[in-house]
Amino acid sequence: MRLLRLADLRPAPADPATFTGDARVTRMPGVADDPAVNAYRVEFEPRARTAWHLHSGLQLLVVLSGRCRVQREGEPVQVAAAGDVVSIAAGERHWHGADADGPMAHLALNVDSATTWFGPVSDAEYEGR
Ligand code: MN
Repeated sequence: MRLLRLADLRPAPADPATFTGDARVTRMPGVADDPAVNAYRVEFEPRARTAWHLHSGLQLLVVLSGRCRVQREGEPVQVAAAGDVVSIAAGERHWHGADADGPMAHLALNVDSATTWFGPVSDAEYEGR
């Protein structure tokens, strides 16, 4: 059993190369070793979002608070509420972020997974236009 205490960790500003808007990331590495699981608590200000990206393995997003906008390339933007879980398969190009009405926090659980980043999510893409 392993307990990662949020109180022992410190948030850091999200990398502007891979996020649009203001977000803070608390890295919770080494949740498990086999399979390797890394957790990231991400707090997004309204309209803040990741760039387009994909993961080489599974990613689970657990929405902790607020409303999460999430989109797989080629599909409509979806909105997940607090308590919802989004499952993103290996290789699915996608983004995630807060909606326009308020901040959002999610826990990202990356299972045996590395991330490849692409370009930013435009306002039109964010708004689903
Ligand atoms: Mn992702």
